[in-house]
Amino acid sequence: MSNTKPNTCDPCGSSSINAGFAAGEGPTPADIMFVGEALGETEANEGRPFRGGTGKMLRMMMHQAGLKPHEYYITNIVKCRPPKNRTPTNDEIATCTRTYLQAELNVVRPKVIVPVGDVAAKFFLGPSVGGIQTIRGYVFDHSSGAIVIPVVHPSFVARGNREFWAITVNDIRKARLASKGLLPKPPVPKFNLFPTVSDVREVCQMILSRNLKFAFDLETVGYREKLNIMCCGIAWSANDALCVPFLKRGGVEYWCHPDDEAEAWYWLNQLWLSDCIKIGQNIFTFDIPVLMQHGVVFKPFTARDTLIRHHCIGLELPHSLAFLTSVYTRLPHYKLDVKKAGGMLWAPDEIMRRYNCYDCIATYQVDKLLTQEMLEFGILDDKEIA
Ligand code: SF4
Repeated sequence: MSNTKPNTCDPCGSSSINAGFAAGEGPTPADIMFVGEALGETEANEGRPFRGGTGKMLRMMMHQAGLKPHEYYITNIVKCRPPKNRTPTNDEIATCTRTYLQAELNVVRPKVIVPVGDVAAKFFLGPSVGGIQTIRGYVFDHSSGAIVIPVVHPSFVARGNREFWAITVNDIRKARLASKGLLPKPPVPKFNLFPTVSDVREVCQMILSRNLKFAFDLETVGYREKLNIMCCGIAWSANDALCVPFLKRGGVEYWCHPDDEAEAWYWLNQLWLSDCIKIGQNIFTFDIPVLMQHGVVFKPFTARDTLIRHHCIGLELPHSLAFLTSVYTRLPHYKLDVKKAGGMLWAPDEIMRRYNCYDCIATYQVDKLLTQEMLEFGILDDKEIA
């Protein structure tokens, strides 16, 4: 694209945005395409995208992620500079992308689109997708056939969030691998969301007989002092999980007969009392105390917590399961399904239980890679991971 604003460009309803103009640059076609928000002062003066301080930061991160300039195309949603760097309006974005970005996408034909920052991410993924910090690093499908991997804007890193430098380099590295077809596919989940008591018995007996490690997670309703357990998920591999429900939406009992519920609890209790290693996220301050309130007894020294383990690896980093999942796994952003369904209180049983099982396999996968890292760093010795 030419770097001169064509005379035919009809200023998008706002003459004040009509400052500077920078088309994208890079090879066409290109497997990977970075898309920012709009021009800053330096970009407007030079007529090139991502040339100011934060642009240089982004290019440095790309370099650290192993991306060479001839491998990527880089552009912005809006090709002019909004006054005082304000966020472009929806009308400005709609007019400008219709005029320019769509043509660029047709020519570049990227396999991977990397929106840089919140505005670009929402343009490609929709306004309800969630904040950039919660979706960065995840892999999304796009209607064009490309995949989308959002990253935070370098200006966010520059505003005192230095820990996001390494995170963004990691996200760009993921995008680079994806553009070369080298990103592993996520394992296909195998979830049982509506088990019979025989299913619960068989899974628990199998875990116990093989002394398997397993990840678990509770979904609860109510207040802290009086929490009711909606369901308990268990994952015994990277993709196998069982949700043991106790309450349906609206507080209705899941089990038709009290003996079935008692037997489900019996088998779960056999797991808690066993030598099997139990893995969870934030279990020492939430799940285990809640289970103990319900009379569960745990075998001492058989549980470990991915949240605590991650503190040992990267104290300054976020530690939520959503963050760990984005860094250590290829799972989709499954938490968005619950958000789209109106939140945990309103999501239908099936969505809530699938979420529960995803939490379990995510924790299982995160624990495996965290353990490898802790071994490499010498924080663990082999005996501790047996
Ligand atoms: S923002 Fe886009 S549509 Fe609006 S004047 Fe600039 S180039 Fe034209």
